[in-house]
Amino acid sequence: MRFVDTHCHINDREAFPDPNRTLHEAQGHGVDRCIVIGIDEGLSERAVQLAERYPGVWAVVGWHPNHAHEWTPEGWARIEAWATHPRVVGIGETGRDNHWDYAPAAQQWEVWERHVDLAQRVEKPIVIHCREAYPELLDWLEAHPVSVPLLFHCWAGNAEDAERAIRLGAWFGVDGPVTYKKADELRVVVAMLPRDRVLLETDAPYLTPHPHRGERNKPAYIPLIAEGLARVWGCSVGEVASVTTTNAKRLFPAIVGTA
Ligand SMILES: [Zn+2]
Repeated sequence: MRFVDTHCHINDREAFPDPNRTLHEAQGHGVDRCIVIGIDEGLSERAVQLAERYPGVWAVVGWHPNHAHEWTPEGWARIEAWATHPRVVGIGETGRDNHWDYAPAAQQWEVWERHVDLAQRVEKPIVIHCREAYPELLDWLEAHPVSVPLLFHCWAGNAEDAERAIRLGAWFGVDGPVTYKKADELRVVVAMLPRDRVLLETDAPYLTPHPHRGERNKPAYIPLIAEGLARVWGCSVGEVASVTTTNAKRLFPAIVGTA
């Protein structure tokens, strides 16, 4: 079985001081490809560095909505330059976060629109962070058709949100919460998502799957999330591996044929 972790933060030096070891351990669990996500200038740079260093790593560059207040024109210029790098496969994570109030809404929207513009210029998917903001972000997307694929990282919307996102042709990241005992509502929504649009991701070091909650998450835990999804789909973990890996290669063609 071979898996792709399509969203992790092993560029976080504190959580992952030895990415070589992290990647090696992941490979031992069948996770031979990882997409590392930037959340600001420094961590986007680190994501690109890891993608240049390791054959099984690719990067997504961008500025997280919770860091929108730290956005600088100089930092953004560097992100725009990295966006065309052959090992950069997407733009983000970007979007809306109403849970934390680090950055005012107006600033989050401004930075989001820059990502949408950049992603369309370089023709790469947008990796979306959406927390407690599905209706407003979906309103925006319905009013502003986007020419590149939309990937809702760590999908946590309700059934109505899911119907709207499906109509937009979006892709969906499924993470550790699908394994949580009390996540029945989430599992009902995940079951609605088109299987050819679903990807596995850890969001490591966050959102650790059962039975390791309370510990630091890592790409090696992708098979546990696959088990959770297999229970939702009523199929084998092998089938989840095969479907989600095929999906990841369709959304991110740069990861095909390497690693
Ligand atoms: Zn993330």
